[in-house]
Amino acid sequence: MSLDDQWVTEVCEECGSAFSLKKRARVHEEQSAFQKIEVYETTAWGNLMLIDGFTMVSTRENFLYHEMMAHPVLYTHERPARVAIIGGGDCGTLREVLRHSEVEQVTQIDIDERVTRVAEQYFPELCESNADPRARLLFIDGIQWIRDAEPGSLDVLIVDSTDPIGPGEVLFTDAFYAAAHRALGDGGMLVQQSESPLLHIKILERMYRNLYGAGFDDVRTLFFPQPIYPSGWWSASIGRKGATVGGFREADVANRDFETRYYNADVHRAAFAEPEFFRKAAAQWRQES
Ligand code: SAM
Repeated sequence: MSLDDQWVTEVCEECGSAFSLKKRARVHEEQSAFQKIEVYETTAWGNLMLIDGFTMVSTRENFLYHEMMAHPVLYTHERPARVAIIGGGDCGTLREVLRHSEVEQVTQIDIDERVTRVAEQYFPELCESNADPRARLLFIDGIQWIRDAEPGSLDVLIVDSTDPIGPGEVLFTDAFYAAAHRALGDGGMLVQQSESPLLHIKILERMYRNLYGAGFDDVRTLFFPQPIYPSGWWSASIGRKGATVGGFREADVANRDFETRYYNADVHRAAFAEPEFFRKAAAQWRQES
């Protein structure tokens, strides 16, 4: 029995690394209009979804990513009533956003309806809030939607997209950030998954320069573990309009009326602590922007 028969592997050529999980079977495979979507049943991580050969989400550890894409930015905003999620087709981030009673409406815009339909089948726990009356699910290109959004109509924009290749590439461009800046109200924030701080520092540099170039007044990065992505260490970067990212509603975090498995006030503070190599690089990017 070859290695391939027992393990599902994501290879990161340019990183010189590979990551494998032991599998029982591939339970789903399809080529959608945009991407190849696969789901594997694993021996120890539950179900695992891959898009175009890249690991996206597993049953066992997705709470790390979904909680960190939602809670830090929502507790940083004074009153996050109007929220949009671009990407996020597995619906895990949407579920976390809807835990916040301050959220009055949330629109999720994913280019590929098939990702959500596959998630409903193999990750039903992530889709359990899809019928919430505050939620609206659209299936169009995120850059089209943000270009058509009313100026100042959003408090928080979460970009839970694939990597900056294929359909996700457009979501890392200055044209996208300029449209996002216009759609956000004063004090509004964009948060975007920003890859591995160890392996993808060039992508983070480009994001900082493009976000400042698009008019965002402050850009900060939060760091968190991500076991199924290259290097196991991931990040999300926040751009804020007309204010600094700064403090958060600590008392509300302490008194929250919902369970979290990773996020709390200490994790919030720790996640914004910049490692020395990153502190130096980001200080230069800020200075030059
Ligand atoms: N956590 C994952 C990551 O960090 O790679 C992302 C998960 S989520 C499944 C990514 C979603 O982004 C996919 O459902 C994909 O269809 C969506 N997506 C990619 N490009 C898009 C675009 N231009 N507009 C809207 N959604 C897009």
